[in-house]
Amino acid sequence: MTLLAVPIMVKSVDQALAAAAQAAEHGADLVEFRLDRLPPEVPLDSLGSLVERSPLPSIVTCRLQSEGGHFAGSEDCRLARLHAALHASRPPVYIDVELAAYEQSASFHQALDSLLGPPANELANTTGLILSYHDFKSRPPDLYQRLEAMAAAPHCRVAKVAWHARSLRDNLEAFEILLRRQKPTIALCMGPFGLPSRVLAKKFGALLTFASLDNDQATAPGQPSVTELKKLFRWDAVGPDTRVYGVIGYPVGHSLSPLVHNAGFTHTGFDGVYLPLPIPPEYEHFKATVSSWLDLPQLHFQGASVTIPHKENLLRFVRERGGEIEPLAERIGAANTLCVRPDGSLYASNTDYAAALSAVCDRLGIAPDALAGQQVAVIGAGGAARAIVAGFAQHGANVTIYNRTLQRAEDLAAEFSNPCPQNPRAGKVTAASLEKVHDSCCQVYINCTPIGMHPNVHDSPITETSSMRCWGPGTVVFDTIYNPVHTRLLRQARAAGCLTIPGTEMFLRQAAAQFTLWTSQDAPVAVFQRLLMDHLAESFTPGS
Ligand code: NAP
Repeated sequence: MTLLAVPIMVKSVDQALAAAAQAAEHGADLVEFRLDRLPPEVPLDSLGSLVERSPLPSIVTCRLQSEGGHFAGSEDCRLARLHAALHASRPPVYIDVELAAYEQSASFHQALDSLLGPPANELANTTGLILSYHDFKSRPPDLYQRLEAMAAAPHCRVAKVAWHARSLRDNLEAFEILLRRQKPTIALCMGPFGLPSRVLAKKFGALLTFASLDNDQATAPGQPSVTELKKLFRWDAVGPDTRVYGVIGYPVGHSLSPLVHNAGFTHTGFDGVYLPLPIPPEYEHFKATVSSWLDLPQLHFQGASVTIPHKENLLRFVRERGGEIEPLAERIGAANTLCVRPDGSLYASNTDYAAALSAVCDRLGIAPDALAGQQVAVIGAGGAARAIVAGFAQHGANVTIYNRTLQRAEDLAAEFSNPCPQNPRAGKVTAASLEKVHDSCCQVYINCTPIGMHPNVHDSPITETSSMRCWGPGTVVFDTIYNPVHTRLLRQARAAGCLTIPGTEMFLRQAAAQFTLWTSQDAPVAVFQRLLMDHLAESFTPGS
């Protein structure tokens, strides 16, 4: 069983015990008492009492500055702290010491061995030695020699390596180390790329992973909190066969997709976990990372949501790997969903346009084919507009693209107004400058610009509502923005009696379609919606 350990910087015995009690309440299995910041006024003999009274079994560590800790004193002083903790009547389950210190100083090594006793004695059976190595800058070139040295040290019960991940690919090396372990092992990646190694430690049989009590108390870069690990990333449900999904983008930290998809897995009992997967913008990064993740069979990487700047890269990648691409995604030139089929083949699709299409048709109470001949105004000519223009024109709607940069609207219109031999029913696509939207008369208006998005919540692409002569009960106004949910544009439209659709509808529908592609189950849309609304209410309360 892989344990969940909470590191606690010990500044006083009472504070550390209170933190340990909190860790126990949060469901942690272990605490790591970090003695490297111990103030001089704390008497050493109180350390035994700290370990004895801890509500959870403990690891005791006095980390050196050279390996990311705070201890700068003498080895004798360090040994005295470890000695005090080790000789508690209920000693710690592990002490953690850096391999470098163990190897470099014969006196420290001998003193530590004698503290632990011969490998088979009673104390050694109670307290195990973790030999560790940390690199906060990069992957150490001699990583495997260090692991071998740890494996060969007779007193070493657990090998621990932690390094700063240079990309998501470093996580795979952590998984390989765990798969090939000779003794209980901890292999973790630090920094913004390292989260998978922390969440999936359990999938690969690590001895433990670390999580902080809250984000301010993380002791290493990229360390999640216990709540994130347990509630968001489904720690208790992760096992060797858990399927792995994620959102690929750059950046991805803001994405709400992990929140909804992980909750969906929990709600449906699907054995999956969904992670943020940051990949730098260039195609070579995308290709190398996604290939390596797909090529480790024990990872069970089964699919991903793909967002800016990788939607075009996904198409190219799936094409190069001989996979299948949804025809309209090919025509749009961008896909947002990767699915690995049971035979290992790849499928790329675009659930964005279908989400927008179904949101509008449901609001109008019509089937998509009934869009034929309807006038649709799309405001904006970027990536979101592109997918929406393609989807509505494909179903026969006549689309006008209104954009600040007229040339961009014209280029997009030219692409999708080309006669499409496979679809003679496709609607016309034309272009106009943004202000001209005030002279328009359409059944559907879709805002695909960020105008009105937080923090510019008082803005709207419609500056003169009185000139919107066709707005009324039969008109649908759809704002793709979801932060805030009720944008100024939607308030204007409601005041004019229009039907309105917030951007959350598009987000929920594209996520639900992805969920079904991956799991072959209906997505729990009500669960998705509740989580999304709660999150947005917390994040975008007025004045925030
Ligand atoms: P994008 O590719 O950067 O395109 C942005 C478009 O907005 C461009 O046409 C740009 O005009 C226009 N624009 C930007 N700032 C403007 C301003 N101040 N005044 C007038 N026009 C402005 O972005 P995107 O990926 O298409 O995303 C657009 C919006 O769609 C986002 O803000 C997001 O809220 C929304 N979205 C929602 C979902 C969802 O699930 N609900 C999904 C995707 C996107 P120029 O060509 O003149 O620069």
